[in-house]
Amino acid sequence: MDSQSAKPPVAKGRVYLVGAGPGDPELLTVKAQRLLAHSDVILHDDLVPPAILALAGPQAEVISVGKRFGAEGATQPEINARMIESARRGLEVIRLKGGDPGIFGRLAEEIDALEAAGVPFEVVPGITAGIAAAASLGVSLTDRRKAARVVVISNHQARAEQNAGGTDWRGLIRDDSTLVIYMPGHDFASLRDDLLAAGCAPDMPAAIVSRASAPDQRYRFAIVGELDKLPAMDSPAVLLIGRSLDRAHQRADSSAGAALALDEAELILSSL
Ligand code: SAH
Repeated sequence: MDSQSAKPPVAKGRVYLVGAGPGDPELLTVKAQRLLAHSDVILHDDLVPPAILALAGPQAEVISVGKRFGAEGATQPEINARMIESARRGLEVIRLKGGDPGIFGRLAEEIDALEAAGVPFEVVPGITAGIAAAASLGVSLTDRRKAARVVVISNHQARAEQNAGGTDWRGLIRDDSTLVIYMPGHDFASLRDDLLAAGCAPDMPAAIVSRASAPDQRYRFAIVGELDKLPAMDSPAVLLIGRSLDRAHQRADSSAGAALALDEAELILSSL
């Protein structure tokens, strides 16, 4: 008799590192939805809205490990330990992150930890915030007439705190680039100065999109030379900069014109 067969079966746990998309449940992948319905443990960020967590099956243990800037939350080693421990118990685990897990989502650190522990994993991509924001604005991030490249970058304040000297824009500013800036912060006057100092044209179009794809999504436009005129927007928000936004700016200008015309019409009516 084969001595191997006497051993208990090895538990087949697995971790899925899943993108939940920007917020609208309709922008989840079919695969993410299927995994949510079947998994045993769901460890999620606080960017993931309740409407998406509601797709978890009744068997699932749903655990928030959110750690928004300044807020309490599980540490990265605690999250790693939880994923590994659950998978080793033979459970199917979802690590659910807003947007795409590989865009400012600490995916690389989690993959390293899972590989080191010998836990099988799979990455399931999601629609990242910058892509959703462009779609909301009705713009294309590349445009063969004026936008040959897309730069995805974070302007996180922590970079300055880590003595990295803030975001280094040199080499990134080109007239044919679209910048997609995550965690743009609220200090748009400093950002304007940094971008202009790096050679950005003052008339370069910009747009900030808050809560892209959510029912309370909002957006505002400015040019880089007047970036400080952008209002503080609810978090999360992403900032897009580039000639690819020309058309969206034109649309905003013409609808602002239409709104003005309406105001004037109302004024005339009310003065009659
Ligand atoms: N993995 C995520 C990004 C996580 S970093 C993704 O791919 O989208 C968090 C930052 O993402 C936020 O500070 C904000 O800049 C951006 N963000 C996430 N969701 C957003 C949304 N619905 N609308 C606008 N920005 C969003």
